Amino acid sequence: MSSSAGLVARDLASVWHPFTQHAGWPTDDPLVVERAEGMYLYDVDGRGYLDGVSSLWVSVHGHRVPEIDDAVRAQLDRIAHSTFLGLTHEPGIVLAEKLLATAPPGLSRVFYCGDGATAVEAALKMAYQSAAQRGEDRPLFVGVREGYHGDTLGAVSVGAIDTFHATYRQILLETRSIASPAFARSGAEASLAELERILDAEGERVCAVAVEPMVQGAGGMLTHDATFLRGVRELCTRHGALMLADEVATGLGRTGRMWAVEHADVTPDLLTLGKGVTAGYLPLSAVLANEAVYESFLGSPESGRTFFHGHTYTGNPLACAAAIANLDLMEARGTVAAAARAGDRLGAILEPLRALDGVVDIRRCGTMTGIEVASLETRTGFEVCRRARAQGVLIRPLGDVVVLMPPLAMGDADIDLLGSVVVDAVREVVG
Ligand SMILES: *Cc1c(COP(=O)(O)O)cnc(C)c1O
Repeated sequence: MSSSAGLVARDLASVWHPFTQHAGWPTDDPLVVERAEGMYLYDVDGRGYLDGVSSLWVSVHGHRVPEIDDAVRAQLDRIAHSTFLGLTHEPGIVLAEKLLATAPPGLSRVFYCGDGATAVEAALKMAYQSAAQRGEDRPLFVGVREGYHGDTLGAVSVGAIDTFHATYRQILLETRSIASPAFARSGAEASLAELERILDAEGERVCAVAVEPMVQGAGGMLTHDATFLRGVRELCTRHGALMLADEVATGLGRTGRMWAVEHADVTPDLLTLGKGVTAGYLPLSAVLANEAVYESFLGSPESGRTFFHGHTYTGNPLACAAAIANLDLMEARGTVAAAARAGDRLGAILEPLRALDGVVDIRRCGTMTGIEVASLETRTGFEVCRRARAQGVLIRPLGDVVVLMPPLAMGDADIDLLGSVVVDAVREVVG
């Protein structure tokens, strides 16, 4: 068994981590995770940590879920991978049926991808090509400021978080951005007014408007009102642009509903999902499309209407098997309703923090929670997370926003522990 220090030294010699400044990383005391059980991760020294961010927003029932483990093993005994280009397989078919059975009415087709970003990428290309095949020239996209849709260039184009995206501005798709509808910022009305101005001026050139429904996650858990989504839906319909709801973070129960668009009772034309779909087991994402978009791609082979897009591992059967087992468990256990209750419980524990001057805001929708702390010094959010880790709770900040995102099925005792450790850590740092 390798020691933590030995593995960290070897890591530093050969690995490059995402979203990580390597010049400073060694001093942050990197944690080497070895295994997990339920809601807890264990490092190579055998120390346990409560998983307070669902291993980056993906875990649903916790780790090492017997039913999902078994489903993946059973699939391994059949086949690990077969291409989805022109061929098919039962796990891919069953998963599509199950996703559509839960999806907002009107979405009728499932296109698989591997990560959230690649699903967004596919959706953007679908929107553009679909318009072109209806005889319309729509090369423009609209995104929302503080939005995040992943790190490939198309996804970066419709995102608008300066820290992540400003560097690449010169090499992106042509995109207009509207103000964030977040309560603390412009509010839904101002955002919608901006969208209306853009669409009135050049709506016939816009193929899609991309939004993160109810919560802009990576932007700092910025929550907004359902009226924003209803307004976007109406304006998109009026101007012939597709509404793309990116539910990679918010989908599959995260906001206390199966889909965040359910809070507004709207159906987008395209919906992207990812993160929690395999309950944190394997990379898988998808675009759900409505029948009109799908039909705009039909034609003879010579018509050029094929969607020439896909990935080597598109529809990977192991990932589909994990996702099917996840959705079955969610249904059998009423996980979405449980997540809504877990979120409310966590919110109540955090409520006293609002009285602190050093706490700017607490935002929450379902289990998606952000505590914005004042930037007293550099890395205030990081300091809160460092103290929580010393108390056996793993969380990860977004700048000055301390993010809590427990697995949907986290029980009361663990929710209470997560909440109380974070309350103490926030008090220590900004109280
Ligand atoms: C995380 C995220 C993505 C990107 O997903 P990856 O799997 O990291 O590529 C896209 N959209 C939203 C809303 C996300 O939160």
